[in-house]
Amino acid sequence: MTRSIFYLLSLIGFSLLTSCSTTRSLATAPKMTNHFDAAQNQLIMSADILSPMRVWKITNKTDSLLLRKTCEKVIPNPADPVLNHFVKRLLVTVRDSMSLGVGIAAPQVGILKNIIWVQRFDKEGFPFEVYLNPVIKKYTDKKQDCPEGCLSIPDRSETTTNRAYAILLEYDKMDGTHQTELIEDFTAVIFQHEIDHLHGILFLDHLAKEMKK
Ligand SMILES: [Zn+2]
Repeated sequence: MTRSIFYLLSLIGFSLLTSCSTTRSLATAPKMTNHFDAAQNQLIMSADILSPMRVWKITNKTDSLLLRKTCEKVIPNPADPVLNHFVKRLLVTVRDSMSLGVGIAAPQVGILKNIIWVQRFDKEGFPFEVYLNPVIKKYTDKKQDCPEGCLSIPDRSETTTNRAYAILLEYDKMDGTHQTELIEDFTAVIFQHEIDHLHGILFLDHLAKEMKK
């Protein structure tokens, strides 16, 4: 998602957020590689960790096909050099002055893996955090209207009306721990937007659904 959306929301103001979390250790899980293929390896390792990756856009035909694909599960492994290199470059990409995003998903840079970065507006200092294999287990019936933009959809911002106000999220962290967390308000929209990307869904699809209704 793009940063302009946050500025808009901050004008409106949003409530203080609460969340809870539980941790389950996967320390006993076997160490495995993430099986990045040769093309993915090349794309990731072709530049240093300070270099942003190219953001794929729906205005490019080849990119738009890839943005519609479903991503693969990734195995958390802090010892995997390619995975480490990739998450660092993905963060640099979303924070790049050319992007100014509040969230990004791996397929937006051509890597079909279940990895997202989200800026946590519900935490002090609004930190960016990385999530592996995020899955939304529950949605509230309560919805929220939210203006959305996307790094992969240039010059377009629209208000969606069907995003859940809160979600129950499960994910893995880079160190292999598995967590469940309740997330509310604008940050919940960023998660819903980025997790959609992992399934080839764009925010414009939600607008189309609303139009049909
Ligand atoms: Zn997006």
